[in-house]
Amino acid sequence: MTRRFIGKLATRGPRCLCIGLAGLLTTTLPAIAHVQNFDVVALGAHGGIVDGDLTAYLVRPVGDDRAVLCDAGTIMKGLEAAERKGSLNDIRPSPDLDKERPGLVARHVVRAYLISHAHLDHIAGMVALSPDDTPKPIYALPSVIDVLTQHVFNGAVWPNMADQGTAPRLGLYHYAPLKVGQAERIAGTALTVSAYPLSHAAVESTAFLLRNGDDALLYLGDTGADTVEHRHNLQDLWQAVAPLIRAHHLHGIIIECSYDDSRADARLFGHLSPHWLLHELEMLEKAVGNEKPLQGLPVVVSHIKPSLVSSRQPERDILTTLRQHDRTGSRFIRLEQGDRVQF
Ligand SMILES: [Zn+2]
Ligand SMILES: [Zn+2]
Repeated sequence: MTRRFIGKLATRGPRCLCIGLAGLLTTTLPAIAHVQNFDVVALGAHGGIVDGDLTAYLVRPVGDDRAVLCDAGTIMKGLEAAERKGSLNDIRPSPDLDKERPGLVARHVVRAYLISHAHLDHIAGMVALSPDDTPKPIYALPSVIDVLTQHVFNGAVWPNMADQGTAPRLGLYHYAPLKVGQAERIAGTALTVSAYPLSHAAVESTAFLLRNGDDALLYLGDTGADTVEHRHNLQDLWQAVAPLIRAHHLHGIIIECSYDDSRADARLFGHLSPHWLLHELEMLEKAVGNEKPLQGLPVVVSHIKPSLVSSRQPERDILTTLRQHDRTGSRFIRLEQGDRVQF
């Protein structure tokens, strides 16, 4: 791995651009997709405990100001962190719109929400922003829309900001149900999305396969491993994305790893630990079938649950374990709130 300052970006070739606390730098990779296509900013990087840093990823094609939010646990605090870190610098404020860039991005750059499931750590930012938000579609599987309709935007927990369910319906958000495995155009963007169900203990969660032309990015909401969940959702997902990896079209994966390996399987509650994440990546490798097909593939490790015990450092431990025990050659990336990566 070599690292160079962004000033040398003119060099062509496979790479992954990471911009974060350490400033502007690039990392040269043996990436399997050769041109950066997706721009990802973590607005919320965790799966609980600390409010104001809950799962949300701003995703757009590189150089395109039309984005989607993959989950929406935290929005404004994440955009403010991203602004401080320079991760939104290429988005030009418009004098006709909001003056502050975080507000501009929330209201006008984000064109749609993709909600993997309705747990609070995936929707709280959207709910909090909704009184000042612009009209947007919410793309989700029907089971997720049912929960939002009945239990969130229901006039009791929160006013009904959507276009279905309890009256009065304010109609700000339009529910756009997705059919499993069927690509749908995301309104107002260059992207399409296909949804795949995931097993997350008692609830159905979702993986979103985003496409920009031939290029693809895979985002997974909360999920357990097939073996632990006694399901085959991930196996089905790996079969669906294997052809994209064979064709070198998959640019990266954003996937959870909530707990470190000290957590017993019986207490994973529909989440992954490093051992199971590595196992699932090996299953993906097997589904692709080539020699070392994941070599250099950027894998953003999301949804790590922080510990309130000062002697424990789950983020460090999880990343160390993944890097030490990985046999697939995947390139594990950790984004803190406001960090940006292009791949
Ligand atoms: Zn979660
Ligand atoms: Zn969850």
